[in-house]
Formats: sequence, structure tokens, C-alpha cells
Amino acid sequence: MIEKVAEGILWVAGRDRFMPDSHIFVLGNVGSDDLTIIDCGIVEMGDYKLGELESYGISIKQVKRIIMTHTHLDHIGCLGEFLKQGPHIELWVHKDEAMYLEQGDDRIVYGNKMFESMIRSQYAIPAGFFEFKVDKKLEGEEILDVDGNSFRVVHIPGHSIGSIGLYDEARRIFISGDTIYADGAVGRYDLFSADAEKLKESLEVISNLQIDILLPCHNRIVKGGADQMVKNTVQYWIPLLR
Ligand SMILES: [Zn+2]
Ligand SMILES: [Zn+2]
Repeated sequence: MIEKVAEGILWVAGRDRFMPDSHIFVLGNVGSDDLTIIDCGIVEMGDYKLGELESYGISIKQVKRIIMTHTHLDHIGCLGEFLKQGPHIELWVHKDEAMYLEQGDDRIVYGNKMFESMIRSQYAIPAGFFEFKVDKKLEGEEILDVDGNSFRVVHIPGHSIGSIGLYDEARRIFISGDTIYADGAVGRYDLFSADAEKLKESLEVISNLQIDILLPCHNRIVKGGADQMVKNTVQYWIPLLR
């Protein structure tokens, strides 16, 4: 399923099966050849995601870069499938997770040993599958300009060490990855590189943003009036994170 959620922002819904599959967002105008994709999805979802883009008239040739909100398997699993179709595409990842990817260290990708063995038997993933060259190592505060809209990279560690969000201040749109979801939920903070204290600080950063449209990478997206929900979610979780 593909849907336009705002001018220059398309949403391709994740297709959860026995494992969650992240949503992806496409930034830029449909005819542009400077498109940015946020996240990819779980292993074997490349054809579905790229098929949805094609049905909307978008070719992978138009995609300049993929930015990862973070590198968990349900977001990065089909990155290799995207890059095989579009070897020209740049990969942008926060520096704290880029370091792992470039060394083929997949501890963040899997999160823990139990998931690793479950997933590797399910998908027969060979060792070294998650070694990628990162073209731009983000630090936070970079500004991405796409077809007249600008998105600020916000480093929000906690769910994972290099989690980022993208904030369009003018339109009050926040792409939140797995850090905060609609309906009162926040990302889990027990996996490798997660940190409850940092998640708490990141939620405080998020609650200081004005957010009308909330675009998390799982479950429901909020197409307007998200601000009070976001602030209530943060209020609820702050005392629980210690
Ligand atoms: Zn995650
Ligand atoms: Zn996820």
C-alpha cells in the first residue's frame, strides 16, 4: 500500500508477517530525480516496496539516497535488495551505527542472540550479509533539502545508539523511526546498544518539537493533530525509564 501523506512525502506501509516490516517514506516530488528513501524493511520485502513505488510511477533510478532511522533488521533487512537494483544509491546512517555496518558487525541489526538464531534459520542469512559502505555518516543537525522542503536530522539515541528522526519544522512533520509511535508507545530499550536513560532524554527532545504529523516506522501514522498525543506519550514514559 502506497499513500501520499503530505506534499512530497509518500508512505509505503510495512507488511508484517511473522516478523515486523518497517514502513518506508519517500521524500521528494514524484517526477524528481533526487528522491530520498527513509528505511527499507525486513528481508525479502524489497520487491514489494519497489513494486509499490513503481505502481506510483517511481523508478529506483530516481532515488539518490537511503537514510536509515536506525539499523535494526526490520528496517535494514532488504537494503541489499534495494542496492542491487540501484547500485548508485548513497547510504546515510548515523555515525554511531555506521561504524558497526562498515565492519560487518551485525549485533545492532539483530539486537540479541535469540533473534539472531531465529532469524538466521528463517531466512538462511549468510555471515557478512550486513556489511555496507556508508556514504554519509550523520551526526545530527544536518539539513536535508528536498524539492523545497527541509528536514533536520535529530539524533535520538535510546532505542538504538544511532537512532535518528527527521523533522520538517515548517510543516511540523516528524519521522520518528522506532523511538516514538502513535497511541502511547515508544521503542523497546532492551536490545543491543539500547539505553533507557538516553531514550528518556531523546523523548524530552521530541516533546519540545511541535509535531502535527507523526510518521513512525510501524503501526499507525498520524496525519494531523499529533502534538498532544506525543506530549502525553512522553509524560507517561519519562518516570518509567530509569
Ligand atoms: Zn528498531
Ligand atoms: Zn522497527
